[in-house]
Amino acid sequence: MAGNWAGTYEYRAPRRIAVSTEEELRAALAGSGPVHALGTRHSFTDLPDTSGTLIEMSGFDAPAVIDAESRTVRITAGTRYGVLARQLHEAGWALHNTGSLPHISVGGATSTGTHGSGDGNGVLSSAIAGVRFLDAAGDVHEIRRGDPDFAAVAVGVGAFGILTELTLDIQPTYLVRQDLYAGVSWDTLLGDIDAVTSAGDSVSVFTRWGEDLGWVWVKRRATDAAASVPAELLGGRLSTTLEPLGLGDNVTLIGEAGPWYERLPHFRADAEPSRGDEIQSEYFIDRSDAVAALRAVRDVIAPFAEHLIWTELRTAARDDLWLSGAYERDAFIIHFTWENHPDEVTEALRVIEPALAPFGARPHWGKRHLLERAQIERVVPRLADARAVFERLDPDGRFVNEHLVRVGLRETR
Ligand SMILES: Cc1cc2nc3c(=O)[nH]c(=O)nc-3n(C[C@H](O)[C@H](O)[C@H](O)COP(=O)(O)OP(=O)(O)OC[C@H]3O[C@@H](n4cnc5c(N)ncnc54)[C@H](O)[C@@H]3O)c2cc1C
Repeated sequence: MAGNWAGTYEYRAPRRIAVSTEEELRAALAGSGPVHALGTRHSFTDLPDTSGTLIEMSGFDAPAVIDAESRTVRITAGTRYGVLARQLHEAGWALHNTGSLPHISVGGATSTGTHGSGDGNGVLSSAIAGVRFLDAAGDVHEIRRGDPDFAAVAVGVGAFGILTELTLDIQPTYLVRQDLYAGVSWDTLLGDIDAVTSAGDSVSVFTRWGEDLGWVWVKRRATDAAASVPAELLGGRLSTTLEPLGLGDNVTLIGEAGPWYERLPHFRADAEPSRGDEIQSEYFIDRSDAVAALRAVRDVIAPFAEHLIWTELRTAARDDLWLSGAYERDAFIIHFTWENHPDEVTEALRVIEPALAPFGARPHWGKRHLLERAQIERVVPRLADARAVFERLDPDGRFVNEHLVRVGLRETR
């Protein structure tokens, strides 16, 4: 596995070391060259790459340690969300939300600001109560919510050190039922977007930007597993299958309540998620700009439709983490899954990004975008503050790579 999960980027790092304990990690960090952490390789760019040693963290997968009194779980950074979720559920606990796939590592996913959906749900990093990491010298740091630097490191983009453990907030386990509605119109969405995004605890709109909007995927916490759901919602009809989405047979079950971790992700843990041979892009805007931003993208996307597999529209609740897409604003999130056509995707982003620029669109750190330092500085208000924290924590610049410099998260060396 020389490249990322989607096969769209080959890591150039001349050395790779797999580690599973802090002692092994400290040994891998010894020396003076550039280093960088690699999680489960689900990001889409050169973000984790380095001209030195790539340190594979997926062996950091010790069992979770649950503290019922503080309602937290301590988990090693390479653990996949799906593995953590099963352990939590079996012990009677749950996370507040998940991303669309359970295969990603907790350390890698939180580092890029990964999110699910739901007007009331913060991004996954909003559940972080504390992090433990090693700096380039191998020294251990523990930073908890409320400590100085926490707001910078909770979405830290691999820019300052290597996370070994995270402590996450948990809550009693719960059931979720998910349903798909077909036939909700663009007029309904643009006429009352809040009615759509608040139709469940986690709502995703799937569209290909055609005349028909597409599908509204609604996930609701179910207190009564036998309760029925409306056959019509917002003018759309209940579908008995997820087939219309064309996601494949790797999706979680609809129409029947089940454990949260088998319904909140779109994809099942025991199958490969999504298409595989694909590129993803994603932008966070203020929820109050959602209608205008959707109109702006609709105006320009038609020439690129053949390269688009689907768009997913989601929401996230505001937080105070400097590099979160939902920093200090309730977010509306516009996602694109593209065919693996790099040149055409670049052409599309050259048009879509200017269309979204008036809305201060922030890029997803783990996905493909064209924005660089000066543009990102305008839309991520604490970029310079986060950069200053990272420069202080890693004064010799061992975690600096080309990507982090390009997007303004580190200074050039
Ligand atoms: C099919 C698919 C579906 C997706 N769905 C969603 C979704 O629903 N929502 C969403 O927001 N995103 C989604 N993503 C994006 C994905 O969540 C992010 O790219 C995430 O960063 C992947 O985690 P990873 O462990 O694979 O990280 P990697 O790609 O391995 O690394 C990403 C970054 O994290 C850093 N990192 C990794 N581990 C550590 C560590 N231990 N310490 C410090 N830094 C570390 C790396 O250095 C790098 O900077 C999806 C991606 C795919 C392929």
